[in-house]
Amino acid sequence: MVQENAPAFAEAVANDMSKPKLEMYSAEIAAIVQRSLISTEKLEEWTKPTVIDVPDWQKPWSPTIYKVAKGVVLIIAPWNYPMTLSLQPFIGAIAAGCCAVVKPSEIAPNYSALLAELAPKYLDSNAFRIVLGGVPETTKLLELQWDHICYTGNSRVARIIATAAAKYLTPTTLELGGKCPVILDPATDIAIAAKRTLWGKAQNCGQVCVAPDYVLVPRVHQDAFIAAIKESCSQFFPDGSLASDSISRIVSPEHHSRLMDLLKRTKGEVVLGGKSQGLRIEITVVKNVLADDSLMEEEIFGPILPIVPVDSIQDAINFVRERPHPLVLYAFTENPQVKTQILNGTLSGSLVFNDTYMQLAVNEIPLGGVGESGHGRQVLKYTFDEFSYERGSIDLPKETEPFLGMRYAPYTEENFKS
Ligand code: NAD
Repeated sequence: MVQENAPAFAEAVANDMSKPKLEMYSAEIAAIVQRSLISTEKLEEWTKPTVIDVPDWQKPWSPTIYKVAKGVVLIIAPWNYPMTLSLQPFIGAIAAGCCAVVKPSEIAPNYSALLAELAPKYLDSNAFRIVLGGVPETTKLLELQWDHICYTGNSRVARIIATAAAKYLTPTTLELGGKCPVILDPATDIAIAAKRTLWGKAQNCGQVCVAPDYVLVPRVHQDAFIAAIKESCSQFFPDGSLASDSISRIVSPEHHSRLMDLLKRTKGEVVLGGKSQGLRIEITVVKNVLADDSLMEEEIFGPILPIVPVDSIQDAINFVRERPHPLVLYAFTENPQVKTQILNGTLSGSLVFNDTYMQLAVNEIPLGGVGESGHGRQVLKYTFDEFSYERGSIDLPKETEPFLGMRYAPYTEENFKS
């Protein structure tokens, strides 16, 4: 479906948020096609019953683990990567053998309508349905009993999902967001660190769960880092980021005014950007941002990058530790001791050294949060595992009876000795 309709999907998402075609093809279409193909190839391996190695006396029991579909599952997706975040869990659910209802986001209406139109042409509607709608429709869906719910979105709505799931003790996968910090070790190559941070921030105009949200920079190096960001920004967007078609726009007027309000209330100093035109907002860098600033209140989910000065790497680690566990922690450092200090001193869904966003290109590592950034894991086998469970099984043939005699009553001294 995705291969045959790639141009139509790209067009739909361009209409929803002006997502550049290059970003759509590389981060969504190619990823989904590749992951569908890999899932098909790996299906036999993933679903094969595993015969377990046990002590010799238990071998005749044939202990086996079967991978079993959980049943009928609900997938609720957000708007920002509308294809990846609706179809990646869908692929895993199909691979696991589940029936599924997918509820794409009403905030990406063109993509959602196209998916609803195409899916019945490719999939059996008795097993797989796309349901369109917003809060009222999702609320209705949540009243039903599901065997698993996979929700990707914000942590406020995640609490509504978890509450609805609790009624039937339904297991959940909650793929959430939060503020992903970047820690900068000044001994690193600041130009590369700035370029890679800016690139990650510019993807989908910062509307990414794994976008670098803010940067913790040793105070004396703040200006050098900002100068390097400015330099990269003028290379990426020679006519300015407002005019560029290499960057998405903000998805909706509500998100636009939320971002402009955060910017209006900041007590930091805007050193790059700050302007807006229609639903577009310039790449904006704000310096000397303090912990209680408007820009630190919530996940930014837009092209604004606050720089928070700190006194040392340990200060930066403490700053991260005092806040909810992020989905991703980024750190630019080539120093093995600093890497160990960050690895052992923090918790986050993923930990990425010396780049941003590229963890999504590695099919073999899972995406998922910890604590406030969610629970459960995605990508290929990890997604398959979310929608299936391990059913342990043994089979005791009658020939094992002589070895089992001791367990039967009446209990005697003889039983006890044997
Ligand atoms: P959104 O507004 O599209 O909402 C997500 C889904 O929740 C939609 O399908 C929507 O219909 C449904 N929904 C909204 N309100 C609801 C309610 N009251 N009751 C039931 N369902 C409701 O998307 P969003 O939440 O703005 O998405 C952005 C958030 O998602 C960010 O926090 C981002 O970090 C996070 N995110 C996480 C991942 C991940 O993989 N961890 C990926 C992308 C986005």
